[in-house]
Amino acid sequence: MNFIRVTALFCLAVTAQAAPGNGLFDQLKAQYLKDYGIELVADAEIYPVADSDGAIDARNSGARNVEMALYFLRKEFAKYPPALIRASGVKRIAFCRDLKSRGTRVAGVALEKNATIYMDSSTEIGDEAHRRRTLHHEFFHFLDYAMHPDQDLGNNPEWAAANAPDAAYGGTASAAPVANWASHPAPGFVSNYARQAVPEDRAELFAGLMTNNLTLRLLLQKDSFLAAKLGVLKNELKAFCPQVDEAFWAKTAKNF
Ligand SMILES: [Zn+2]
Repeated sequence: MNFIRVTALFCLAVTAQAAPGNGLFDQLKAQYLKDYGIELVADAEIYPVADSDGAIDARNSGARNVEMALYFLRKEFAKYPPALIRASGVKRIAFCRDLKSRGTRVAGVALEKNATIYMDSSTEIGDEAHRRRTLHHEFFHFLDYAMHPDQDLGNNPEWAAANAPDAAYGGTASAAPVANWASHPAPGFVSNYARQAVPEDRAELFAGLMTNNLTLRLLLQKDSFLAAKLGVLKNELKAFCPQVDEAFWAKTAKNF
């Protein structure tokens, strides 16, 4: 009897102690550190980010306001083999609000210098599908850095060879909202943003695949340039992390 009483009191004390934080945040923070060596940050990041020379600005979310972003993160990152996450070089994910990159409001941004993905965790920027894609898009930038160290990511000969002969990057992307992200603005390009630059093109294709975009799936059946670029991407990823093989992609295609 006495023992039970003591146990009950102990449990109460633990609950009271954990109350000021956010249960899910604390749980994922511990798990990500242990499984991937990634630190989750929601407070105390200093903005504008010095490592970005001030290009990245935001405000801290606070651990209490990140629940939705955590659900997205937990679901989407669970699709990756842990070995791929560890090999990516990502060391931190910082949750924030009012996130801007060079003055433009964005849902996420990757900063190689401090190995951090910045994620806007408010409901103000983009719909759910956009936010889930953003996680994979920013994560892919780190994979690209890791797969091609000390290389100009804009200059990828295999990628260039897979592109349509008249494919051109830069300046043409429209900021106008489109009804469907996979707007296929030109042969070989899944989205408007993909035309910005080679690294963005690659990150967009990867993110569409990881989130099982159905329009993209249909496009891959009829656009041979897009299919060829996907082949290049899959080869690079498999060489980098053998677990990202056809079985992985088959599993991903069933994971909604
Ligand atoms: Zn990007």
